[in-house]
This record gives sequence, structure tokens and C-alpha cells, in this order.
Amino acid sequence: MAVAVYPGSFDPVTLGHQDIIERSSKIMDKVIVGVLKNNSKSPLFSVQERVNMLKSVTGHLPNIEILAFDGLLVDFVRNCRADVIVRGLRAITDFEYELQMSQTNRVISPGIDTIFLTTNLKYSYLSSSIVKEIAMYQGDISAFVAPEIAVKVLSRAEDVKNGRPAR
Ligand code: ADP
Repeated sequence: MAVAVYPGSFDPVTLGHQDIIERSSKIMDKVIVGVLKNNSKSPLFSVQERVNMLKSVTGHLPNIEILAFDGLLVDFVRNCRADVIVRGLRAITDFEYELQMSQTNRVISPGIDTIFLTTNLKYSYLSSSIVKEIAMYQGDISAFVAPEIAVKVLSRAEDVKNGRPAR
């Protein structure tokens, strides 16, 4: 059985992420979306909130599991009994970092390969950071994230702007 791990911060999950999840779910028998807990960036949403948001947008896909993780990605992949890491590539700027990461992972764990899915062109500009930036000004983010995610992001952005602690 071909099992893949798709790791990331998903702060928040965007339509670009969802596209990669849907496409990899057709290629692999099972895809585990790994939500990174220990992020040097300070996230807008807690890891549990990010897991829940991912669950709500992938509920229609039978072979997707969402799990939080911290520590080394290759250890998480091994614990999941997966053989492949899936990453999305948007532009040449992603490529250099992703190549370095995949080569490093292969050295420390030779049995684990990384496969890259190129972005759907309509999402090639899209990132979680851009979504958060627009939301901070209460802009329209409906073209970038699912409706239920947009509500949460706009509400959290409003809280942050008003200095209210995360609920
Ligand atoms: P990270 O902090 O690990 O980069 P992200 O949540 O930003 O986590 O992204 C997770 C993965 O999804 C990465 O492989 C990234 O390249 C990919 N990705 C992000 N946005 C898009 C998009 N719009 N189209 C395709 N892939 C994307």
C-alpha cells in the first residue's frame, strides 16, 4: 500500500493546499496530512485548530488522515509507516528550499523519497501568509480559502487586530 505524508504548517489551509491533497489522494492509497506543531513562525491558529480546519475541508475524501506532529519529519513519516513525502511546488523560489530539504531527508533516511506536485496554475500565487495579510484588513479572501475557513480567519484576524487573545 502506497502511503504518503503531506507535511506543512497549514496556517490556515488554502485552496492551493486542498488542490494538492485532492490530487495526491488520487495517486496514493492513503495520504496523511502532517500539521507541524513546532513552528518557528508564530501561527495564527493553534495546531488543534489547524487540524480541525483541515478535517472540515477534507471530510469528503475517504483516504485522508490529518495528524499533528513535531520533531523530525522523517521520524513522523516512519512512524506513519509511509514511504513518500508529498510537497507542492509553486515557483522557482519554492524549488531551491524544497530540493535542499528532500536531499537532506534522503541522506538521514534513505528509504524515504519526496515527490513534488506542481501547483494548479490558478493557485500558483497563493500562500497562507497572503491570506492572513489580506484578512488583517478584513479583505475578501473567498477566492483563496473554503467558506468555513474564511469565516474563522477573518474572525481571528479581527481579534488579533483588537488585541484580544486567541479563543
Ligand atoms: P510550510 O511552512 O512547510 O511551507 P505550508 O503550509 O506553507 O507549509 O505549505 C505546505 C506545502 O504546501 C508546501 O509543500 C507548499 O509548497 C505547498 N503549497 C502551499 N501553497 C500552495 C499552493 N498555492 N499551491 C501548491 N502547493 C502549495
